[in-house]
Order: sequence, then structure tokens, then C-alpha cells
Amino acid sequence: MTRVKVLPAEISQKIAAGEVIERPASVVKELVENSLDAGATEVSVDLVDGGKRLIRVEDNGTGMSREDAELAFVRHSTSKIAREEDLLEISTLGFRGEALPSISSISRLTLKTSEGGEAPGTEVEREGERTLSVKDFARRRGTTVEVRDLFFNLPVRQKFLRGDRAELNPIVKYLTSVALAYPGLRLSLANSGRVLLSCPPVGGLRERIFQLFGKSTLEKLMEVDSGGDSGRLTGFSSLPPFGRSDRTHQHFFVNGRPVRDVILSSALHQAYRGILEKDLSPEAFLFLSLPYGDVDVNVHPAKAEVRFRHSSSVYEIVLRAVEQARAKVSGIKPIASPGNEDSARGAGDYADRRTPFRIPEAREPLDRFFRSPLGAGPDLQPEAESGRRVLGQYANSYIVVEDKDGLLVIDQHNAHERVLFERYSEIDRRQSWPVKLSLIPLLFDLSPSQALDLEANEGTLLESGFRVEAMGGRSFALREFPEIFQPEEALAALSGILEDLSAAPPEGKKDKILATMACKTAIKAGEPLLREKMEFLVAELFKTANPSLCPHGRPIQVRIARSQIEKGLRRR
Ligand code: ADP
Ligand code: MG
Repeated sequence: MTRVKVLPAEISQKIAAGEVIERPASVVKELVENSLDAGATEVSVDLVDGGKRLIRVEDNGTGMSREDAELAFVRHSTSKIAREEDLLEISTLGFRGEALPSISSISRLTLKTSEGGEAPGTEVEREGERTLSVKDFARRRGTTVEVRDLFFNLPVRQKFLRGDRAELNPIVKYLTSVALAYPGLRLSLANSGRVLLSCPPVGGLRERIFQLFGKSTLEKLMEVDSGGDSGRLTGFSSLPPFGRSDRTHQHFFVNGRPVRDVILSSALHQAYRGILEKDLSPEAFLFLSLPYGDVDVNVHPAKAEVRFRHSSSVYEIVLRAVEQARAKVSGIKPIASPGNEDSARGAGDYADRRTPFRIPEAREPLDRFFRSPLGAGPDLQPEAESGRRVLGQYANSYIVVEDKDGLLVIDQHNAHERVLFERYSEIDRRQSWPVKLSLIPLLFDLSPSQALDLEANEGTLLESGFRVEAMGGRSFALREFPEIFQPEEALAALSGILEDLSAAPPEGKKDKILATMACKTAIKAGEPLLREKMEFLVAELFKTANPSLCPHGRPIQVRIARSQIEKGLRRR
């Protein structure tokens, strides 16, 4: 008896479809890629229920003839490549000829398309593997694809779909990267009638970044542009000392295609090594252009990854380009925002906004302890039994302590972070956060995906003392914030918190928030401390549950054992 059987086409089609189409975001990606390949200058994406009920992508591209419209649903039919050699030089986003057949095999799909001019347009209706109808249809040049009830015939997949917001998130991210790669494109996104992205065409990447992320992002970037025919890197990356607390702000594009790639990201990190504070990662909007033959885009069914023919030269190009850009700005020349490039007023504005990276105001760090809403006055007794004694401060950043076993070098920032984290956790357990009302409106703008994160986490933020009010579009005002902060600090903390929240699992959110609050209010490295403050901090540190690790998991102290010292001095 034979046990190996060839699967019926219907099943194998679904398996293949599942490889290309994982969730609504994959459908959006494939359809928008088709629109872009068709030369569209306008693309609008409309969703219902995060795309689970409906995804509609409309473009003003070339459209298709009736014949092509029917052929497009046959697996491996494509207008983009014809011969095997073409695979070596792919200049379009699509080429596998799999998207439309895959999507249509697991949904109810309608395609309406027209090449404009005299010939009538066409409407194709499909349900799963079947074509229900093909008829004439009048419309302007371009194509509309409507995908309803994704996975209606693939219940396994359907079960794995997440809440609307979770499905929406990667869609917003993907379309943000499309907007970045195509500044001349008019792009919009709406979900269940609500507009999430609305990007009229702009003149270039700089204007697009301004449109999507606002002035405050643009001000913290420097322009990158160098390389030659064998590879060129253009775009923007962090203007030191600015950076981000996580790596989600790195956008890489290879020949216009958004990609994730370790070579690019490690070259970028290398270029910023030793330049940014240790917790910061560079932000990047970087476009690598390579000869088509030097990139293999056919590595991944969803085309999210690429392979380079000369990966070490790619690494070099990125490293050099960012280094050159840094050298150019080392006089720190600000990037003006569009519109006020040469106005003196704009430049003055910028200078004022730069204060955050001067040394913070000369506040007394110990005040933090007294100011703490717990109200507990510190007790300044040195610790007798442990034999712990503060010897002094090294490099304005480390507290040197002796104890029975030798020397301890304690990182003052990490130590303070730990102490505050435990205090804040206790406040959080016991009561709601004592808050301040902001008297002046603390306004800020968010990127489309941050705006979603903010909404998704409104409750958690409120519990932690941050009350945010939507001001229309992606502008917000911080109305209330924890009493421990000065107003500008509260804004900085909120932006750090939003970055953390997008990555944190639900159970870890509270701790992330508290850790960020602790980080933002802790003494910084480089601050001289008086002896009594160091003594207090060390005493408090050793009362915490974990005096060796800060809430972000970094070490707080290193030990130099007495035996080590004696060995070095040949005392033994
Ligand atoms: P691929 O993009 O890999 O060629 P698809 O299945 O995504 O494969 O699309 C099949 C073909 O249908 C494309 O090659 C293209 O000729 C045509 N097509 C799909 N979408 C559009 C569109 N929005 N406008 C014009 N032509 C399209
Ligand atoms: Mg395609």
C-alpha cells in the first residue's frame, strides 16, 4: 500500500498561500507593492476591523487589460520577469507571481481594473479557488482590489489572527516605510472609517520625515549621502548625541525596498560606537542603492530580507557614509525643518530646543529622595556590620566603597535607578500616583505607530500618572504627570515609555514604565556628588531586593577583591 500521496491542488495551494500571506499586513504589503510596481502615484488603503473583514487597496497605476486581469490569478503568472536571467536583476517589488493567486485562494476577492482610454474596465470576482464572474466595469485608470473575510476557508489561520489593533500595527509600520521610500506618493490609510495616515506627496525624504514624525525628530538627524556606482547610501541618521532607547527606529531600504538586515544594522551600530550614550541606539532612515545584480531579493516568500553579493563591501559603505556624515556635522550644524531653512527665526528656535542635551539644570540630586512622594526622610546612618564605607567618587560617575572583602565600584546612575525603581513600585502598589497638572500645555507629536501605541496603552499610562489628551491628528497634550517630574522631564519620560511599551509583553508593561521613570529621574553619570549623598545612596541600594542589577538588567557594581589587590602587589 502506498502512503505517500500527491496532495490535491486545493490543499497545496492553501499551504503555499499560507507562506506568502500570514496576516492582514501581508495582504496590504503585496497589494501595495503591486500598486507601486504599476507606477501608481496615489494609493489608498481602507480597512475594516484591522483588515480582518475588509482590505481595499486602490491605485491610479497602469491598470490591466481584461486578459491580464484573469491571468493574474494563475499561480506564477507575472508581467515583471520572463526569463531565468531576469531573476538576477530584479528592479520591481514583486516578481514571484504568487500574491494575487495566494490572496484570492483564502478570501473573497474583487478586482476592478482599467487601463484608461477607450477600452472598458474589468471586474473579476473570486471566492477561494473559484472565479465567480468576469464582467465589464467602468472606472478611471488604475486598480482596486478588495479582499474580504481573509482566511474564511482556512480556519486554522483565522484562529491565529489577533485583535484589530495588533493587526493594524504592522500595517501602519509597513505603510510608514512605503511613505518614506516614495515621498512623491499620495498615501492614505483608514481603519473602520478612521484616518490613520494621510500623506500628500512631498518633495523629498526630509519633508516626508517631517510630515510623518514632526520637527522634533528631524532636528535630531543628520543627512547621509555618499558612495559611488558600486553602492551609495543616502538618507538620515541620528545626529549625535541624540539617539533612541530601542532599535525600532531604524528604517533600512535596499533599492527602495524596506528590509530587515543584520549587516546594515550592525554597520550602523559600529558607526555610532562610543558616540552615543550606552543605552541609546541610532535612529535611521537609510537608503542603500546597489546595482540590481548585487542583491538577491528572492530569499524570503514575503521578500522582507535580501542577500548581498558583497556583504563586506556593503558593511563598509554604510560605516563610511555615516562616519563621513558625522565628520561633516561635527561643528554641530542643525538640520533646519522644511519651510524655515534659511530663516533666522528657525535657527534660533532650534538653538532653544537644544537645551535638553546640555548638562541638566543644577539640581540637588538628594532632593529626589526628599521629594519622593513616599515622604520618608532618609536615614543617614552608615552601615556598621557590613563594614561598608564610602571612600569617594571616581570620574564623577562611580562611587568607590570599601567593605570587609575589598573594594566595590558602584555605578551611581544604575544604583539610583534600582533604588528609585523599588520606591516607585511600592508607590504603584499602594496608591495611585500623586500627579501634577500641567499649567502650560505640554504638546507633542507622535508618529502614526506611536499614536496607536499610545491609545492601546492609555489605561496603563493613566494608572502611572500620565494623562494624555488627543488634540487632533497625531498631536497630543500631556495634561497630568507624576509629581516626581519636572514638566520637560515628564515629556522625555513619556516618550521613553512609549518606546518601551511598543515592545513589552502585557505583563511586563508596568515594570517597564516604572523602570523608565526611575531612569529618567536618577542621578546621571558625570554628576559630582557630596559624600553624604553617596553614603545615603549606598545605604539605600543595599536595602533593595537586588543591589547588583538595575531594573533594565545591567550590572550596578563591580568588585575588586582584597585578594586580587594583594596578589597584584605581591603581598602574598
Ligand atoms: P507579481 O507582483 O509577483 O508579478 P502578483 O500575483 O502580485 O505577482 O501580480 C500578478 C500580476 O498582476 C503582476 O505581475 C501585474 O502584471 C498584475 N497586477 C497586479 N496588481 C496590479 C495593479 N495594482 N496594477 C496593475 N497590474 C497589477
Ligand atoms: Mg505582486
